[in-house]
Amino acid sequence: MKKTPLRAPLTIDSAGSAQAMIELRGIIKRFTNAAGEFTVLKGIDLTINRGEFVSIVGKSGSGKSTLLNMVTGIDHPTEGHVVVNGADIYTGITESQRSKWRGKNLGIVFQFFQLLPMLTLLENVMLPMDYADLYDFDERPKRAMELLTLVGLEKFAYKLPVLVSTGQQQLAAIARAMACDPPLLVADEPTGNLDTRSADKIIQLFEGFVEQGKTVVMVTHDPSLTSRTHRNIIISDGEVIDETVSRSLPQLRHRHMLEFTKVAEERSYQPGETIISRAQSVDYFFMIRTGQVEVVLRDEKNQEYIVSNLGKGEYFGEMELLDGGKSIANVRAGSQLVELVIIPRADFMRVINESPITAEAIGKIVKKRLEEHRTADRRAANR
Ligand code: ADP
Ligand code: MG
Repeated sequence: MKKTPLRAPLTIDSAGSAQAMIELRGIIKRFTNAAGEFTVLKGIDLTINRGEFVSIVGKSGSGKSTLLNMVTGIDHPTEGHVVVNGADIYTGITESQRSKWRGKNLGIVFQFFQLLPMLTLLENVMLPMDYADLYDFDERPKRAMELLTLVGLEKFAYKLPVLVSTGQQQLAAIARAMACDPPLLVADEPTGNLDTRSADKIIQLFEGFVEQGKTVVMVTHDPSLTSRTHRNIIISDGEVIDETVSRSLPQLRHRHMLEFTKVAEERSYQPGETIISRAQSVDYFFMIRTGQVEVVLRDEKNQEYIVSNLGKGEYFGEMELLDGGKSIANVRAGSQLVELVIIPRADFMRVINESPITAEAIGKIVKKRLEEHRTADRRAANR
């Protein structure tokens, strides 16, 4: 078994890892205002890989937009490093170099479109090509028209933004964001101001970009959209919640998820290695990050049989913690490496006592598992 603290500091080599599109390391952002200094981002470590479709959620004021601004180079971190598409975007680079880099590498979409009102949709889409000086001058209108066609706005190409609906303005803003064919699209509540049909159209477009291999990162406050992304990242009070915690216990309040994130430890087990032995007392709540675990019982003839296989996003140890008892089964790693995120008993009990809906959800699982054990016992007895 390998033990590592969950929040070990991470380092990046100069160019970052090859599959990472975004690497944030130790990001701290402080603002100073009349009331004094306050920290909005409190040491964020986050990696987003190429080709991922990622949603970011969190309460209003939790720091989502500030976090996106660190990735786009719109604002700069107080401390820490940001590597995007292989480039450290704050070290040894001037503001004008950064702006040029952004034009070629990044598409940005905001909640309120920000189209230039005196330009037609076509001209708005051509603008980033002019700024970045990409594509031949004569080619730009044709390319802009292709992008407007892609988003279904070819008929409106020569109209001013005010003459189309808000949904259509956002589609035009997306066409503009993709003007220079960037590998990364970053969107801050792109559907926040739209009806559900327009929102759906935008998510479909994003899914299409992801299919082409692009990376899409979208802040949203619409929980129905998070089910359509590969990964959902929760920001709580300027910190990132561990994704295994949020996947395993989705009913918890963000503040409780954050508490678990802070007290969690990480353990890894080789294939077949025992995680809990039968009759051993259980001191942790175990959540599965990767791999599969086998829950094993023995029949009267002392023959082993597997009662259940648990995988990513599932958990175990809750029965023993809630009953205060010893383990009724052996739990071991399946045929692959298993990585677990574990919570000490006292922390688990305190949070569960404060979160009745989580207690209820866990209670249902306990009931289901007891049923499974009983059925398995009966089957074993009849063999
Ligand atoms: P979210 O997008 O999650 O709603 P933000 O990232 O916009 O949250 O803001 C997080 C916190 O940082 C808020 O308390 C906000 O008032 C503060 N904040 C954001 N930008 C600035 C700024 N430029 N100056 C001072 N405070 C700011
Ligand atoms: Mg915001």
